[in-house]
Amino acid sequence: NASLKSAGHRLLSASQTPRCRVCWIMSRSRLSSRAEEVLIGLGGNIGDPLEAMRTALKALDAHPACKVIRVSSVWKTPPWGVTDQPDFLNACAAISTTLEPREFLEFCLTIEKNLKRVRDRRWGPRSIDLDILLFGDRMTSAEGLHVPHPRIADRPFVLVPLAQIAPETKFGATGVAALAAKADVSGMSCLGDVLFVR
Ligand code: ATP
Ligand code: CA
Ligand code: CA
Repeated sequence: NASLKSAGHRLLSASQTPRCRVCWIMSRSRLSSRAEEVLIGLGGNIGDPLEAMRTALKALDAHPACKVIRVSSVWKTPPWGVTDQPDFLNACAAISTTLEPREFLEFCLTIEKNLKRVRDRRWGPRSIDLDILLFGDRMTSAEGLHVPHPRIADRPFVLVPLAQIAPETKFGATGVAALAAKADVSGMSCLGDVLFVR
C-alpha cells in the first residue's frame, strides 16, 4: 500500500474513473459495495505489545482488501483466565474488508506468526493476539472459526474498548455499551489513543 501510494497512485472513490490498472484493482477491492465491517480484538503481554499491535494494524491497513476505519484507546488489563502472567495491553479496531471470514482469519494468523506469536499454553502469555469478534452480521461455528467470538460478553478487556468503537453493536439482546457498563473493570486503566493514527 505504502509503495503504491508513494508511486503516485491514489485511492479513488467508487464513483471516480480509475486512471490505471493498479487504481482500478484497488478501487474494486478496497471500495467495493460488498465490503463488510469486521470488529477485532488485539492484545498482548510479552515483548512490546503496543508496537506489535501497531504493526498488526498497519499490516491490515496495507492489505489491498482491508482498511482500518476505527481504533479504540489502548487499555492495560489484568490477565483473564490464566492469572499468573503479566498484565496485558488490549484494544479493538473496526476494519472494512472484502475478504471472506476465513481469508481474514488466515491473514490475522499470518500477522501473528510474523510477530512471533507462540501457542504453548491456552490463554497464556503472547506477543500478539488478533481475535475476530464480529464479521458484519455473519454467524459461523465452523472448524477453527467461531463468529461472533463466543467469549466477548465475559471479557471486560474486550467489552470496554469495543464500547468505544461500536457501542450500539448487539450480542444477543444486549448492546456492547450496556455490557461494558456492567463489566468488572477493576485493575483496568486507559493509556489513551496511542495505537494508530493514519
Ligand atoms: P480465545 O479464542 O479464547 O480468545 P486465544 O485467542 O488465546 O483464545 P488462540 O490460540 O489465539 O486462542 O486461537 C486458537 C484458534 O482459534 C485459532 O487458530 C483460530 O483458528 C481459532 N478461532 C476460532 N474462532 C476465532 C475467531 N473468531 N477469531 C480468531 N481465531 C479464532
Ligand atoms: Ca483471544
Ligand atoms: Ca486468538
